[in-house]
Amino acid sequence: MLRCTRCGKAYPETFRLRCDCGETLLVEREGYDFFGSLLPYLDIRRYLNFLPIGGNYLPPAIPAITPTTSVQAGPVFALFKLEYLQPSGSFKDRGTFVTVAKLMEEDINEVVLDSSGNAALSLALYSLPAGIKAHLFVSYDTMPEKLSLLQSLGAVIHFVEGDRMAVHEKAEEFAEREGLTYVSHWLNPYFLEGTKTAAFEVYEQVGVPDYVLVPTGSGTLFLGLWKGFKELEKMGEIARLPVFVAVQAAGYESLCERSKLPNPLADGIAIPQPPRLKEMERVLDETGGLCVSVDEHETREALSWLKRAGFLVEPTSAVVLAAMWKLIERGEISDGSRVLLPLTGSGLKLIEGI
Ligand SMILES: [Zn+2]
Repeated sequence: MLRCTRCGKAYPETFRLRCDCGETLLVEREGYDFFGSLLPYLDIRRYLNFLPIGGNYLPPAIPAITPTTSVQAGPVFALFKLEYLQPSGSFKDRGTFVTVAKLMEEDINEVVLDSSGNAALSLALYSLPAGIKAHLFVSYDTMPEKLSLLQSLGAVIHFVEGDRMAVHEKAEEFAEREGLTYVSHWLNPYFLEGTKTAAFEVYEQVGVPDYVLVPTGSGTLFLGLWKGFKELEKMGEIARLPVFVAVQAAGYESLCERSKLPNPLADGIAIPQPPRLKEMERVLDETGGLCVSVDEHETREALSWLKRAGFLVEPTSAVVLAAMWKLIERGEISDGSRVLLPLTGSGLKLIEGI
């Protein structure tokens, strides 16, 4: 069932973004007794028994199980999860897969999304072979190369004047006016069901890390990873949750104090008013976590380190490494800790380079 994160009202597992009270929803399932019944696939279908979708309607495009690489980084072990190796180049494929499966189950074949980045590319890639028409709302400053890629995947582009929040509002208005399904990954509870599988993989690959550092704007990966580890805890598989650290872009912070000077490089997390803010605050409380803000210079330095270490990622991905360095310097991560750093998006999409 779906359950409201504020009033607790329950709904059946159909495609739905909000509670009647206006708040966000999470999928809540019974019957996860133990972390068994894994299926013999080397992709996301391994975890189908833990997802709120039947096996009869699956998108033809399928997210991979990504590697987790351990690198000694000063006094700690950095566990880089290579999410940028997903088919569309980002972790978003996990959430998109579950979302598109749900849409197929309900015979929904025309949807609306706002994003000019990874979520749009992911939705376009998974919608095309599933026969779903995707209306994508983007801002005017979206790179032309990105737009032509989206169009070649059959997406219909709608331009919006204004900032990221304005694009979000226009997309929702359009969907309502046209009677189409709005699939906002910020709100969609099924998206988090997909991103939680990253935690299952990490657990199978390297066990439970001590810290999880996540680029955090709307919180789709932050909350997904938390939900995955939380379900493992509920199943009695793990004894404790890792400490969650939300890493945010300077100037766009929602959990940390807002900086004056914005970080223009980490555009993937430039979301100053995420709808799931309270849920993220609860995760920080529950795990004894904290928020770290990263500026442009720090992002550039971390990105350069990652390139030289063989990780070709987009700047938003680099903020977690910059945050880890800060926490080590402040003595907030103890020596010998195992620190999960998901590298969320590919650097191959940046035509101009950084
Ligand atoms: Zn409610």
